[in-house]
Amino acid sequence: MKCAICRNGNTEKGFTTVVLERDKTILIFKRVPANICNNCGEEYISSDVNRKLLNFARDEKNRGITLELLEFAA
Ligand SMILES: [Zn+2]
Repeated sequence: MKCAICRNGNTEKGFTTVVLERDKTILIFKRVPANICNNCGEEYISSDVNRKLLNFARDEKNRGITLELLEFAA
């Protein structure tokens, strides 16, 4: 996929770390699958993965978690 930000690079499959903040809850997801631009480093996360992250964040927030480090399991 051609990068939409720099329009020069191509994206490659890789992993990234995502930090989500919701009110007092901070979740850090490691090893989130993403497509990463080999030129500017922009990260593209699929809507599917993004939805999983947001669902997880909502559950953790409801549990009253304030800070958590998680390995993302696809
Ligand atoms: Zn780029």
